[in-house]
Amino acid sequence: MAAAMGRPASKLIRIRLKPKAESLVRHGHPWVFASSVKEQSRDGTAGELVVVHDRRERMVALGLLDPDSPIRVRIVHRGKPAAIDREWWRAQAIRARERRELPADTDGHRWINGDSEGFPGLVADRYAGTLVVKLYSSIWLPRWDEVEAVLREVFAPRHLVLRMSRNLVARAREAGLEEGFRGDARDEVVVFRENGIRFEAAVRHGQKTGFFLDQRDNRARVEALAAGREVLNVFSFSGGFSLYAARGGASRVVDLDISAHALEAAGRNYQLNADEPRIARVAREQVKADAFEWLEACDRRFDLVVVDPPSLAQRERDREGALGAYRKLNAAAIRLLRPGGILVAASCSAHVRGDEFLGLVRGLARHGGRPCEERWTSGHAPDHPAGFPEAEYLKAICLEFG
Ligand code: SAH
Repeated sequence: MAAAMGRPASKLIRIRLKPKAESLVRHGHPWVFASSVKEQSRDGTAGELVVVHDRRERMVALGLLDPDSPIRVRIVHRGKPAAIDREWWRAQAIRARERRELPADTDGHRWINGDSEGFPGLVADRYAGTLVVKLYSSIWLPRWDEVEAVLREVFAPRHLVLRMSRNLVARAREAGLEEGFRGDARDEVVVFRENGIRFEAAVRHGQKTGFFLDQRDNRARVEALAAGREVLNVFSFSGGFSLYAARGGASRVVDLDISAHALEAAGRNYQLNADEPRIARVAREQVKADAFEWLEACDRRFDLVVVDPPSLAQRERDREGALGAYRKLNAAAIRLLRPGGILVAASCSAHVRGDEFLGLVRGLARHGGRPCEERWTSGHAPDHPAGFPEAEYLKAICLEFG
């Protein structure tokens, strides 16, 4: 006992930060980069509790250690000391649940949006009775059992799927944790409803957690604009914007994606909604092509074009290239618009700022020589709250051309 008491490893890790980082943490930023740590009392293992303190030994915040990541500490709490235990996670999860106001007829949405809701590097998405939890940080590996129990209690899913970012899989395996269904469910494709439209989510192997839930409100905006229009959905994936446009009364919808898989999923999503007359009767086409090449060569015209590419800048050094790609894509899309045509352009690149992207699209419109009116700009749906600038990755703009 005496030996255990004196063992330094049993003491909480204490760190001090450089002044700018300390101020950011005080003001609510959840990330402490390794390069901002001025002193650390000892090394530690993934998920260990860390006390951030100031020059006068006062506690600033509590965080969890991510020793192999550039984000060295993920902050979970500021102010007075608190126990970060099962009760703590339960209270955070209940708060996330109660904060949400979901649209009618919607059982596919985000329950927990990571760092912005007190669960750094963890998202939990619901698709009907299935909860898909995706981990992006090793801080969760030692406390997965505790967190799984809390999520089951608070969100009461019938099935739960655990997924991880690629860099985490091997480390999780060493800790005895595998991706996949927890329990005996094996329905890899789950049907859910978003604003009354049925979609498939590939919960086990699909992109993100199986669907792009963050675009829900932008899809509803497209539905409201689509009546009587010929619509081109560039980077259509499983047809999210397309089905909304069809229900909004579009006369024709063209899905353009490079992936046969994505186009097949879109086809099935149309079938799932065949009881909706406007979706059943819309003229529908699919084009399997590279968007950059197809748009450049296209001699057709449309009344509404949606351009929602995958992230084009996952790292800071990709930023310039991404800006060039957005310029090319959206200039080509504007060229395809008939008089009165509408462009809806989106960017989910974390390293392209909102003002940069909006400025770029507005610039294309201004220099295109056509009259143009801005209808709206927006971000992600409110079940994806962003508590700090880096979390505001999705931006969209709608322009109407003369
Ligand atoms: N707009 C979709 C999400 C787009 S995800 C929604 O609302 O759900 C990005 C999609 O772009 C993926 O389906 C991917 O297959 C496709 N894609 C990636 N690169 C492409 C390219 N060069 N040309 C066409 N499609 C591409």
